[in-house]
Amino acid sequence: MTSDDDDLKHHVYPVDDCSTPDALQLNARWARVRGRLQSEVGDVEYRTWLRQMCLAGVDGEEVTLTLPTRFLRDWVRGHYGDRLNALWHSEDCRIRRVEIRVDAEGCGAPDPTDALSTLVNPATAARQEGKLARPDERIADARPDMSAALDPRFTFENFVVGKPNEFAYACARRVAECPASPAFNPLFLYGGVGLGKTHLMHAVAWELAGAPDRDPACGRTSVAYMSAEKFMYRFIAAIRSQSTMEFKEHLRSVDVLMVDDLQFLIGKDNTQEEFFHTFNALVDAGKQIVVSADKSPSDLSGLEDRLRTRLGCGMVADLHATTFELRISILQAKADRAHMEVPHKVLEFLAHKITTNVRELEGALNRLIAHANLFGRPITLESTQEVLHDILKAHDRRITIEEIQRKVAEHWHIRVSDMSSARRARAVARPRQVAMYLAKQLTSRSLPEIGRRFGNRDHTTVMHAVARVAELIERDAGFAEDVELLRRMLES
Ligand code: ADP
Ligand code: MG
Repeated sequence: MTSDDDDLKHHVYPVDDCSTPDALQLNARWARVRGRLQSEVGDVEYRTWLRQMCLAGVDGEEVTLTLPTRFLRDWVRGHYGDRLNALWHSEDCRIRRVEIRVDAEGCGAPDPTDALSTLVNPATAARQEGKLARPDERIADARPDMSAALDPRFTFENFVVGKPNEFAYACARRVAECPASPAFNPLFLYGGVGLGKTHLMHAVAWELAGAPDRDPACGRTSVAYMSAEKFMYRFIAAIRSQSTMEFKEHLRSVDVLMVDDLQFLIGKDNTQEEFFHTFNALVDAGKQIVVSADKSPSDLSGLEDRLRTRLGCGMVADLHATTFELRISILQAKADRAHMEVPHKVLEFLAHKITTNVRELEGALNRLIAHANLFGRPITLESTQEVLHDILKAHDRRITIEEIQRKVAEHWHIRVSDMSSARRARAVARPRQVAMYLAKQLTSRSLPEIGRRFGNRDHTTVMHAVARVAELIERDAGFAEDVELLRRMLES
């Protein structure tokens, strides 16, 4: 294996039931044990004490883990030993004991839970070190690992379902339960950045890799998961090393091929062509394809028409932008998993402020939790504003003059065009003045700029409007309420 393969190690091999152990099933179990432990103890504790654990091997009833120092070993044994035993036993009924040894060398691979490092499958890493016996070593060597690693946190259990993603979730579940049923093949997941496409894909792969209770009618399943970028990279590497036949054969030998972020193939004609042939060969052979992209097949201009057509032939499911409710549920689930008390108003505040990307929402919450743990202080709205100062600033919404004009016109039932018209009737002139006032308050536009956007009016007209509205707010409580309501609507 070349060093280029280091982040391509995860491969999910045929999975049967609890009575046929193989290293990959073991690997999936180990990832789940770690994942569960992490969600039970929280990220901070996990990172402090547990993340350096490595799987060294399994011998009959005993699993052996390693930690780099005696201190860590004793601590983990004392505090988490029982939990490790129980989690392993629940994964594999034959395991009765977890032994922890000291091994200063570590796993020899980056920490799979470290967001910054490339995810590497721990079993593969251990195998490389010669620590883990695997029954199917020969087969594995003959078939180079193609897949990228799976994130142990990206499971169905950890995916919060709400209106915007329930359809995509149901489709992913369905494919995981019984791949290659024609109505769901290919499964095409699409949506904006950070809405859970990769999460759902990994969840499908985990499920297929590790579910001993899968419907036997669905048969044995091997899965290859990779990003489109990796697909291209592997393809080019195969051309260079004159091993394209092996590359093709390997890809065509899997039961489920999952390619993430397909939009990457736009403009990469040769790779697209190769993907198209692989795709056809697999679908024709009754194998499952799961693909994700940032747009629907019909909107992926730049992909060949014939590929777009085939991609749209199965099930196309989009992940819509999150709603406020879904964001609250995701935050709550993540706070619960970290065993952290986060006041509801803080969750609401975050869900209001960070609206586009779940990854950023998650990052903000993690930072709050880490901060609270570090200083032993509870999370409050004030501390949130302080700790997340930079993130919140970046997410401050830019309110546009058009938006203000639209909202104000709607509120007083006038036409938006009247914001720029020459009409001077009070019913039109007063809302126009309010819109100017709000434009001054809520945007960074100068008075002349604002004037221009209101039918080329002079800056002194804007000045007059601002002063007049301020005066009315002082005098008329009903009017003040209207303006305040508009401001809040625009700011939310
Ligand atoms: P995408 O691939 O669509 O860009 P990801 O799948 O990488 O997005 O998701 C970004 C982050 O947000 C991940 O950490 C993922 O676990 C989290 N996330 C997204 N949607 C959900 C959800 N519905 N429930 C829980 N976590 C989610
Ligand atoms: Mg992704």
